[in-house]
Amino acid sequence: MAIQDSLQQIRTQWMERISRELARGEGVRVGFVEQLERFYDLIEQTVITGDTAWLDPILYDWGHSPTETNLEEGDYDVSFVINRMASLTIEVARENLSEKDALELLAAVVPIFTHSLSVVVRYEMETRVAHISSELNKTQEKLQELDHNKSSFISVAAHELKTPLTLIEGYTTMMVDMMEQADQSPINSLLKGVNTGILRLRQIIDDMIDVSLIDNHLLTLNFQPVWISHLLNLLSNELKKAVSGRKQTLVINQFDGSDMMIYGDSERLYQALNNVAANAIKYTPDGGTITINGRMLPGFIEITITDTGIGISLEHQATIFEKFGQLGRTDLHSSGKTKFKGGGPGLGLPITRGIIEAHGGTIWVESEGYDEVKLKGSTFHILFPTRTEATDPLITKFFGRFEQTKKEIETDTSDKENPPTNNPSA
Ligand code: ADP
Repeated sequence: MAIQDSLQQIRTQWMERISRELARGEGVRVGFVEQLERFYDLIEQTVITGDTAWLDPILYDWGHSPTETNLEEGDYDVSFVINRMASLTIEVARENLSEKDALELLAAVVPIFTHSLSVVVRYEMETRVAHISSELNKTQEKLQELDHNKSSFISVAAHELKTPLTLIEGYTTMMVDMMEQADQSPINSLLKGVNTGILRLRQIIDDMIDVSLIDNHLLTLNFQPVWISHLLNLLSNELKKAVSGRKQTLVINQFDGSDMMIYGDSERLYQALNNVAANAIKYTPDGGTITINGRMLPGFIEITITDTGIGISLEHQATIFEKFGQLGRTDLHSSGKTKFKGGGPGLGLPITRGIIEAHGGTIWVESEGYDEVKLKGSTFHILFPTRTEATDPLITKFFGRFEQTKKEIETDTSDKENPPTNNPSA
């Protein structure tokens, strides 16, 4: 018997057997039978023409049919259905055809099932990959939204806290003044304590606001001429008390470029250097040394702040520049600003990085690891671009002229000190 005739002969049994085994529920069966009819017709066409391209449209539909729910529940598997169809076809052929006809039929249709299976598996895989990447995108969007909410919360909380704090600050300052005049010394010293607490609270709130500004790309820089040596002198004065209180030594070296006029936001840069240097004091035991050095590189000034402190583990080095990198360590919180290991809210380095990056620079740390006995120390590197123009051309023009006049005066004075000789070769 011809293969097409064999196919016709087993069609009804094939249809019944497969729809009974594979369709779940009456409702599903109606649609499923229609699909089976279409598939069977196409198998016949393929057998007649020897061209598997006939099957492509239905295989495309099946391979791309899994819905979101099917994929999430993992219960839809067209490749399983095709596999099962192939086995049932063998059974139906054996039961309804002579051995010879059954063998001939199977020799023709088994390659068709194999082809169908490979095509459907490929389509299914594509659908699954698309589904997974869309899920990943959704998760990514949720995470971004969460991060945004977090930073909005910080911003709102910080601004809300700032108002009552300003009130308390104003009234305590007035009380301190009044007590000083009335010479109420015990109350006066208590009030000073309250004032110190308020100052610390203000710093924390300011840090929270800075972090949310940086997070939302709202940090505005006020570009002015800056001399690194000038910032380092200010820093040395500010940290003097803390350094001597901890019996430490602060060494600030002059270096190439430290006297060069560059453009940057001096207040913000000072804040960044102060954060790193205050940390160096904080994480170095009494008697240690903090050294600030630097060098000129093409287009950049590199400033290094090295301490002989407890160092930072490799794993920790990756997180300290992220906001709240220290949140887990509640045991360390709320100690003094320069007290040994007195951890804060973990905002200092993220702010520092935000400030440096907003200037087009970069910051990183080097440390051989954390060891409170061997004190391996840490070196923070700050790479700062030697910008020679401000964002506002008027400022550049003004200060450019100022620099030029300064240079002219300097040359003038040195000329007077070393008058030129008449010797043209000199
Ligand atoms: P914190 O307010 O906790 O000091 P920072 O952002 O300034 O927050 O620093 C983050 C963490 O990085 C610190 O808690 C500390 O563990 C680590 N760290 C920073 N500077 C140093 C340093 N010089 N030596 C050792 N650890 C440091």
